[in-house]
Amino acid sequence: MSTETQETALQLVEEIQSEMSVKQVRAQVDKILALQREVMQEGIHYGVVPGTEKPTLLQPGAQKLNLTFRCNAKFTTERLDLPLSHREYIVEANIYHLSGRWVGQGHGSASTMESKYRWRNTDRKCPLCGKETVFKSKKDPGWFCWTKKGGCGAQFKEGDQTIEGQVVGKRENPDIADLYNTVLKMAVKRALVAASLNTFAASDIFSQDVEDLPPEILEGSGGNGHAKTTPPASGQQQTAQAKRDTPPPAASNKPPGRGIGERIKAINASALLTPEEHAQVKADIGKTSTPDLDAYLAGWEKDIDERAANKGFEEGGALEKRIAAAEAMEDR
Ligand SMILES: [Zn+2]
Repeated sequence: MSTETQETALQLVEEIQSEMSVKQVRAQVDKILALQREVMQEGIHYGVVPGTEKPTLLQPGAQKLNLTFRCNAKFTTERLDLPLSHREYIVEANIYHLSGRWVGQGHGSASTMESKYRWRNTDRKCPLCGKETVFKSKKDPGWFCWTKKGGCGAQFKEGDQTIEGQVVGKRENPDIADLYNTVLKMAVKRALVAASLNTFAASDIFSQDVEDLPPEILEGSGGNGHAKTTPPASGQQQTAQAKRDTPPPAASNKPPGRGIGERIKAINASALLTPEEHAQVKADIGKTSTPDLDAYLAGWEKDIDERAANKGFEEGGALEKRIAAAEAMEDR
């Protein structure tokens, strides 16, 4: 830590100790609550997810908080190139008061390795009309292009290689570079939300991390953000790996949305399940209490792993291993 940074941190602590009375803290909380009640709109500034206790702060809500407290965020970005053209962005958001004083910080990361970016699902395509509307016939062996789903009605015999020779299912997204900008924006969003929750002590009112839930559960985006109350201790010199491994400090806030990340993971993973099962997981995890989540998810994970293996997703597993190996080398 540079001497200058230490001084800033010390000044900040002194100011907080000398200036913030209980009354003032209460006033700040009241201000945020009033802001939520009178200015912010559900679905735009924050989201409410069934089964979670706190509303989730969304990026526009974070911007409102900054505006209200006369603050502004500055971002620094780090890019990690991963194997197979994958990328991760790690963003640090520093929040400054209008006076120029540093008041808080948060981190966010996003990667094209996240399952919603990494995978694409391919269904059987009709060689005649080109639509992904080919289904196995239930009456006789063979296939048909289902008109009800927009297909052409063509039928195909069992063993037809134009149908059965197709590679289908979950596969690596071939257009990963198209997502670089998307994940960068996502990392910025997550960093801003993390920094704002922390800086304005708003984590009693809002949470983070559920923004990545699918749109049918919540409109929006954020998550994977870590907040800090003190200036970075040699933060800039840390390796990216170390930063990602650093758990959120237990200091003032409990880690935002603990358990929510697991819910997201389960929903993402359950994309491998049938639509009915997928819906079941989404319904269940809203009702399942956090302590029971681990057991619940372990059951599904095992099931999902088995199916992935059966469907021939070894390619994906091999990629995971390659990335783990690359990361292990970075650590040395
Ligand atoms: Zn067709």
